[in-house]
This record gives sequence, structure tokens and C-alpha cells, in this order.
Amino acid sequence: MQRLRDALERIDRKGYGAYRDLSGSHDFGSFTLFVDRVQRDPFAPPSLIRIRTRENPFDPNLFANPVRRVAFEDFLTRSVERAIQRIVRGNRGSGGSGRVEIQRTSQVVLPRTSMVVTPDYVEARMAVGLPARGRSVDARAAKTMLLEELPEVVSRALVPAPQGGVEVGRARLHVEVVEDADHLRGRLPGLGLVAFVADGAVLPRESGASDRPLGDDAVSFESPEEYRVEVDLPNRGIVSGMGIPEGVTLVAGGGFHGKSTLLSALSWGVYDHVPGDGRELVVARDDAVKIRAEDGRSVSGVDISAMIGDLPGGRSTEDFSTPNASGSTSQAANIAEAIEAGTSLLLVDEDTSATNFMIRDERMRELVRSEPISPFIDLVRPLHRTLGVSTVVVVGGVGDYLDVADRVILLEDFRPSDATPRAREVKEMFPPRAPLTPREVRSPRKRVADPSPIDLRRGKRQTARGKGLHTIELGRERVDLSYLEQLAEAGQTEAVARIVGEWVAAGEVSDVRDLLTEALAPVAQNGLDSLGAFRGHPGEMSLPRAQELAAAMNRIRSLKTRPNT
Ligand code: ADP
Ligand code: MG
Repeated sequence: MQRLRDALERIDRKGYGAYRDLSGSHDFGSFTLFVDRVQRDPFAPPSLIRIRTRENPFDPNLFANPVRRVAFEDFLTRSVERAIQRIVRGNRGSGGSGRVEIQRTSQVVLPRTSMVVTPDYVEARMAVGLPARGRSVDARAAKTMLLEELPEVVSRALVPAPQGGVEVGRARLHVEVVEDADHLRGRLPGLGLVAFVADGAVLPRESGASDRPLGDDAVSFESPEEYRVEVDLPNRGIVSGMGIPEGVTLVAGGGFHGKSTLLSALSWGVYDHVPGDGRELVVARDDAVKIRAEDGRSVSGVDISAMIGDLPGGRSTEDFSTPNASGSTSQAANIAEAIEAGTSLLLVDEDTSATNFMIRDERMRELVRSEPISPFIDLVRPLHRTLGVSTVVVVGGVGDYLDVADRVILLEDFRPSDATPRAREVKEMFPPRAPLTPREVRSPRKRVADPSPIDLRRGKRQTARGKGLHTIELGRERVDLSYLEQLAEAGQTEAVARIVGEWVAAGEVSDVRDLLTEALAPVAQNGLDSLGAFRGHPGEMSLPRAQELAAAMNRIRSLKTRPNT
């Protein structure tokens, strides 16, 4: 600490570059501060530091298995986030002077690079704006920040009470809630379910711009008797809720009755949530994919022939490419790619679907005879029968779906009921819908992807990086991920960008499916740190799913693929 204080006094008022003298490690007694990367000027991206405690003072039960460890790391990240807000004064000078940050979290719990818990220590990775006056070192401000604020953050956020500020009871609850959700998700296949929504869950969100739970007005979830399932969880014991079985499930109901809200909660059910979220025990198969129309996206060599026959001009759809997909072809490509990436559950909302992809009525069939699209309604059953892929589809307007559903959940005033018997009666009241000759549904043809057309050069550098939640920059190309509804955090985007960057740099032509497993295996084994760009602080990353990695790759406009023969 004394060495750091001396160094700061020595460089006071010098040019900003003098901050480089701080690089390396500094012993603070109860923890070590590592300065891994020093920013070039006060306006550049912040400096990267790590804080490693001398020992791990927490009850080992909090990190006794991988799921608990991830949950505890998540807890401590949030703990640091709160402590920073309370303690750090922030802006004190030019540019980012005085800022202290840790990776931003969302409502979900993910493996992140922000925190490492081992039996021997706890390590927080942060970013700091080293203070400047104009463009010279402001040692006084730096001393307050590094020698007063940081130690205070550590004792509040990384040391258990009563010595420090971490309430161990809250940490335990956090870990137990996450462990229960993970266990519940793991039980789904064995129970023949694709999703589970606990009684008492709060699904609606505060607003379209906030993922926090809606307050007092929320109607909490209560399962229809017909679907109520009980599951014994490791910490909470027995919980009851709605089990959605495999097959085709229709969610019906009037407008504004909570259909999309339920579907969205299911789509986030691939992740664990923090206590208090309301969706702690709302889980879906971890490979579930929300499918939507996305006109304008590029598609490279995807086999959509199960859904769409030959296109105008005799273009084949077994190897379909376009720089500008239509609503229906984009939705078909999204499904084929999701199956390629290995999904067992499609989540489809009419709100975000292409109408002509979902259905075609008899009059239109009569008028337009050269329609290449087999509507989704004729695919949902074969998808399940042949490929074992289940579907939950939200439909308010198209009653024909009653004919193909295994069950119908009706939402009225946000309350679900089982409308399956009634749906059968309704079905009898109308002449049967003549299905189109259903195309043979099979797994999409395999593809290999060739990275060589993807150019990572950007000026003198090679870049593959995330820009916020929705964009990846590969050299000069920007990949638009705005429509990936299950991307939770910018850290996932960053990790995806780096994985893609490594693949491109390696230059290996590979089968798309194999590529996903091969790219994620080292991350699973060695942790996200293995994607790090610097020694020490690896940058801010969260673990992405194979599904989002696949979706990002598939949206690279310069991606070239060909059938894998
Ligand atoms: P739908 O898709 O059936 O038209 P939405 O799911 O979009 O309806 O919900 C309509 C509105 O009702 C949204 O503002 C949503 O936040 C709110 N909402 C949904 N579920 C609930 C609930 N359980 N309790 C209170 N409000 C809800
Ligand atoms: Mg809706």
C-alpha cells in the first residue's frame, strides 16, 4: 500500500502515461490489487484491475458445487455493484476519471468473468477510470479512489458480516434458489415436460423497458388443476406448478390477457433468475429457442425445404441463401437453424410471426395455387413426431390451430385454464381442415461453414468484439443481433464475438453443428477466462448458450456455407 502511495505521489501532475508505473500487484494486507491494464488517456476505455482477497472467508457450502459456485459468484458481483454505488464518489476530473465499475448484471444468473471464487480466495474484476486533471495525473483523487474507496468496497462486498458487510443469509438464499431452478430444469426431460411454471410465480415485467417484476398489480400464476405437477427440490422441498408436457401446446386467449407474457417467461426459463425476480421457478428446456420472423436478415445455405418448397425461378430451398430474407423465409431459416443447433422446444408467438408462415386459409389456397410455403400449422405435429421437437405456440386469432394441438391453455385475465376438452368440442362443430400434403420433415441438411470470407481487419488491427447487447463487430462488419430474444447480457455478446473471432482466426472449415460443440467445450472446461485478451483481467464476459452462438454466426453477412456431403 505504501508503495502504491509513493508511486502516486511521484507521478502527481505528470503526463497521464505515468500511470503505467502502477502496473503490477500491490499488497493491501487483506487483499492484493492487480493493475492489469492502464488506459492511455482519461477518455480511453477504463483501466482493468483485479482484487484478490488473501483468503476465502466464506462458508464452503456456498460454493460446494459448480452451480452453487456460479450462483455465489453472481451474488458477489451484485454485492460489489451495490457497494460501488454507495461508496464511490465517481466523476472527479476529465473523461472517466474516478469511475469504478464491475460488469453489469441482469435478472439472470450466468457464469461471468467478473468474479472468481476458489477455496483459497475471492477475486473481483473491475474497471476504473484513473483520475486526471486535464491530461495529467491527479494523484490526490487517485489516492482517495484506490486507497480509501476500494478497500471500503472490499470490506462491504467481499467480507462476511460481522467483520464485513455481506449478509450470509442472503447469500445462502441466492445460492439455494439458483440450485433449485437448475435442479428443476434438469428434471424436465425425465418428467416428460418441456417447461414448468410454479404456482405463485410473477411473470409480468415492470415495463417494456425493464426486466424487473411488475409490482402490486401483478396477478400471480396459478396452475390449472389438469396440469399441476409436484416436484421435490433440494432446498425448497416440494413445489407445485404447471407442467407443460412434450408435444404441441397452444396458448390461447383474448388480446391483452397475458399470452405473450407467459411465452416470454418460458423463453427466459432457459436461465436461472435471482431471488425476487418472480420467475425463480419458471423453467424451460435449456435448449429452447424463441422463434420469430426477422425480415431483412441474411441466410447462408440453410435447408428450409421442409417448410418452403421451390421458390420463383426454380430456386431450391435445400441450400437457401439470401442477403434479404422475407418474413416467412426468415422464420423458416430461424427454425431450421434452431434444429441444427439442437433444440427440443420451439416457442412461437403470433405477435412476432409472419402470418403467411403460420397459416393459409382455404380461400387463399384456392386463389393462390403456386404457394411454396407449408404453413407452420402443418409442421408442428411432424416436427414432434419425427424430430422430437415440441412447440408452444401463442395464438389468439387462428382457430385452425385447435386441430393440431395436444392441449390448449386458455388465458383469461391472466389466469390459465385447461381448454382442451372445449377445444375438441369446437373442433367437432366445423368441417375438418384439409391439411396440405405435409412435406417430409427431417433434420435440415448438414452444412459446413468457411470462415475465410470473414475479414477481421479494421485498420491495422483485427477485431472481433461485442458492442452492447445487440451488435458484434467483426472487422468492418456489424452483425445485428437485435432479434435474439434470449440474449440476456452484453457479456454474452462479447463472449460470442470472441469465440467467432477465434474460429475465423483459426481459419478452419467446419461442420456447423460440430463447430458449436467444439467452440464451447474449452469454455466449459477452462472457464470464460480462456477467452481473455489480456493477462489477468480477461474483459467482461458472460456465458452464452450454443443457441445464441449459432444464431450470431448465422447472421454474419459474409458467412459462406455449403452442404456437408
Ligand atoms: P397478450 O399477448 O395476451 O395480448 P400480454 O402478455 O402482452 O398479452 O399482456 C398484456 C399486458 O398485461 C402487459 O402489459 C403485461 O405486462 C400485463 N400482464 C401480463 N400478465 C400479467 C399478470 N399475470 N398480471 C398482471 N399483468 C399482466
Ligand atoms: Mg401478445
